[in-house]
Amino acid sequence: MIALNKNYDNLQDSYLFYNIAQKTKAYLAENPDQKLYRMGIGDVSLPLCDAVIKALHTAVDDQAVKGSFHGYMPECGDPSLRETIANYYKRRGVNLENDEVFVSSGASDELGDILDLFSKDSKALIMEPAYPAYVDANVMAGREIIHLPSGADNGFLPLPTDDLDADLIYLCSPNNPTGAVFDKEKLKKWVDFANARGAIIIFDAAYEAFIEEEDLPHSIFEIEGARTCAIEICSLSKTAGFTGTRLGYTVIPKTLERGGQNANAMWVRNRTTKTNGISYILQKGGAAVFTEEGQEQIHRNIAIYKNNAKVLMEVLDELGIWYCGGKNAPYIWMRCPDNMGSWEFFDYLLKEIQVVGTPGEGFGACGEGYFRFSTFGDPEDTKEAARRIKELLKK
Ligand code: PLP
Repeated sequence: MIALNKNYDNLQDSYLFYNIAQKTKAYLAENPDQKLYRMGIGDVSLPLCDAVIKALHTAVDDQAVKGSFHGYMPECGDPSLRETIANYYKRRGVNLENDEVFVSSGASDELGDILDLFSKDSKALIMEPAYPAYVDANVMAGREIIHLPSGADNGFLPLPTDDLDADLIYLCSPNNPTGAVFDKEKLKKWVDFANARGAIIIFDAAYEAFIEEEDLPHSIFEIEGARTCAIEICSLSKTAGFTGTRLGYTVIPKTLERGGQNANAMWVRNRTTKTNGISYILQKGGAAVFTEEGQEQIHRNIAIYKNNAKVLMEVLDELGIWYCGGKNAPYIWMRCPDNMGSWEFFDYLLKEIQVVGTPGEGFGACGEGYFRFSTFGDPEDTKEAARRIKELLKK
């Protein structure tokens, strides 16, 4: 009899979004006339921009005509899109060769698949609170996980210490759930640590487009030394509303080698074996994001989410509540008032003012006592939620 992967028995049940759904459902069953102000889930609410829609339509029409029809696409990405993305990095002074960029179907897929490159006995360091997929993908692969807790004392941006015994290091900046962003100096400490140990950093840059402060790095490759220790995983999901359309990209420098093996060449082999490329239509839609028109339009949408963040931050400032994020990220991570637990605060907001957020505990034990608001919601709902939070918490 075939044995199934026993590592799956080690996965902890994730009750976070299930519990939120159950609690809100039960509340609505008891209070059918109430409207909920949902600021929990990190999905976008605005549609794809015109430039993308136009490009998608054109690409669909291309597929209807023999002369412009495309069958299988190159497994690592359409060469012109790889070049476009490499040029996007150039604007920040990051020089990539086109074939260091791999077009993907999104960051989640890549965060799971990329683990094929690493030996099972490598240890993964995950700073917490964390995006839950990092832990689960490594548990499924049977990898040992080192949990690195962070807190308000270090602004939820922990730094390496000599005693950390890590091979694979997860950094997410801007961070989900905390919204905290590593500056160049702090990132350099991680790059130096990884190079000194021979470790590899998986840098999740899914929220890079939300950074507004000039000096903050959008890419780990803005840091000297990163080309020998980092892989960057990026996504158009939040940048351009592609959560349901699916497109992303991954950067693996050709200079990333360990033990005589080259990670870029291995990934080419992996993709050409395990994928048949990303749809022609989606790659055309994705390419439109990087045009001048596309950039202008996606930043108009991002500005709407940023205004939601501003509305919420103003209220938290007025109330004197500690928080991080919001400025360079679409999440606000606040300390629950009056030492409430994060689920206790969830229940309180739901019952008293019908506002739904995400309890910090769901992102790891050190998230207890904190609460995440997503700023991807409807602006009018966000304003009303902020008004209600102010009324409730100023008491
Ligand atoms: N990485 C982080 C930190 C995220 O928050 C998310 C989605 O919420 C993802 C990756 C997944 O992005 P994608 O939609 O490209 O799979």
